[in-house]
Amino acid sequence: MAKRVYQAWKGSNIFFCNGRLVFGPDARSLTFSVLLILVPAVIFCTFVARNLLHKFSTDNAGYAILVVAIIFTTYVLVLLLFTSARDPGIIPRNSHPPEEEFCYESSEAGGRPTPSLQFPRTKEVIVNGVPVKVKYCETCMLYRPPRCSHCSICNNCVEKFDHHCPWVGQCIGMRNYRFFFMFISSATLLCIFVFSLSALNIKFLVDEHHNVWKALKESPASVVLMSYCFIALWFVGGLTGFHLYLISTNQTTYENFRYRADNRRNAFDRGCIPNFLEVFCTKIQPSKNKFRAYLQEEAPRTSMRPMPEVNEEFGEDRRAKVEDDLEIGDDIMKLSQRRDYYGTEDIKRRGSDGFSRESVESDYNLGSELQTSLSQVEAQQSRRAGSFGTSPHILAFNAIVADSKKP
Ligand SMILES: [Zn+2]
Ligand SMILES: [Zn+2]
Repeated sequence: MAKRVYQAWKGSNIFFCNGRLVFGPDARSLTFSVLLILVPAVIFCTFVARNLLHKFSTDNAGYAILVVAIIFTTYVLVLLLFTSARDPGIIPRNSHPPEEEFCYESSEAGGRPTPSLQFPRTKEVIVNGVPVKVKYCETCMLYRPPRCSHCSICNNCVEKFDHHCPWVGQCIGMRNYRFFFMFISSATLLCIFVFSLSALNIKFLVDEHHNVWKALKESPASVVLMSYCFIALWFVGGLTGFHLYLISTNQTTYENFRYRADNRRNAFDRGCIPNFLEVFCTKIQPSKNKFRAYLQEEAPRTSMRPMPEVNEEFGEDRRAKVEDDLEIGDDIMKLSQRRDYYGTEDIKRRGSDGFSRESVESDYNLGSELQTSLSQVEAQQSRRAGSFGTSPHILAFNAIVADSKKP
């Protein structure tokens, strides 16, 4: 029987419910985090909220505390699951390196020029007028879009990578950051709620016994909960404050730690309110991975073309290649993938990447002629469920870079 994508997944993720839920490899720690929330909540409902039921002038207020505690805890746990069990923004791996990124350079060896393969490991793209370096990922065989990073724990490239959270057992990235922030901020509020009501319970007992020591002895649960919430508040409250700062300046934790010393301008900062709107009011992009799709047999890769003569005009060679490719249906598929991926015109090539700008652009003049056939192939491609080959993120990526090209 054909395997599904999640069954042949190359990252370290753990899947549940036949690939519907995706966790990081350390998902077991999630059980611990759930217990850290659930156990105090149960203690609170059983010992504190129950004691408070009849302490108010109307019984409704007492019951409201119990109901709010239950709903609030459930809400926090659901947010934890939303953060933990969804694709954080994993970019599908390529099955082979982007062929067109290879270029041939001559090097002097023993007095004779010898052609050798070059592969640019970094590129610069312009985001809002600021140069941003994008790196090539050896594992995923792709150029990471800006703000993307490879998580060594999950072994995936994740878009807008924030950090890998061991408490939720998942990467925090573009698709789950909102839930992560809502989780930590709600957990902070829950801590404050439990702490305040436990303190109120102690106050009622002090009023009753006129003795603090007696009151504390009568409700050890309140004392334990107050201490626990006090410690937890430093942790989740501090984290919430830190992330409020990060959101307001449009930074990720990774960027904050990595570039703090550089003191360079943040290309993504659009002002406090737009930054908040970006995190909380934009539509979360759909996952780029169809974990449950059936795997397609990938067509064998055509071999690299033979080395050209050292002095050969690159533009001509590449034009001939494009035309050759047109004759081979399978290669058109690859060609279109490459065009999707790296829209070469979009990337501002720097340094010795071997192509003159003109030769690159001349290839893309061919683009209009190829457009019709490519569109047909793309239509076919989009029907190939579970293909690792295409990834629409590059379209967005290209759009950014195309913008940056405009004068
Ligand atoms: Zn990667
Ligand atoms: Zn991770």
